[in-house]
Amino acid sequence: MDNCLFCKIAAKQIPSSVVYEDEELLAFKDINPAAPVHLLVIPKKHFSSLSDCSADDAPLLGRMLALAPRLAEEHGVSVAYDADGKPGRGYKTLINSGPDGGQEVYHLHLHVIGGPHPWRRLG
Ligand code: AMP
Ligand code: ZN
Repeated sequence: MDNCLFCKIAAKQIPSSVVYEDEELLAFKDINPAAPVHLLVIPKKHFSSLSDCSADDAPLLGRMLALAPRLAEEHGVSVAYDADGKPGRGYKTLINSGPDGGQEVYHLHLHVIGGPHPWRRLG
């Protein structure tokens, strides 16, 4: 997709701070983090938004979502339970869709946001 910022990041035409990569997904640090940990997971294939996806894309969407706990673990914000079974840390997963959804970049992306509060207000 010409002129798409995240397609250019996926193609390494624009630098980013990559934290994960495979054949279909890329994860990198958000340039303007709202919290101590703020990562973005994108498919390398261009989808303008979640509304561009169909049921056929469910496996891809599932893999994007399933990457979040792995990234959270690697960045020290996983929901690790203590000896009493109480959850610690944690993170937010977020997909903004369209203007009212607060979407600014029109290439599907999943935010993974965590770390100690305060966080900047989201949308
Ligand atoms: P959204 O509002 O859901 O479309 O989120 C777009 C996100 O992309 C924002 O959190 C931006 O800070 C982030 N962003 C914009 N440009 C870049 C970039 N070049 N590298 C990393 N993150 C970016
Ligand atoms: Zn794109």
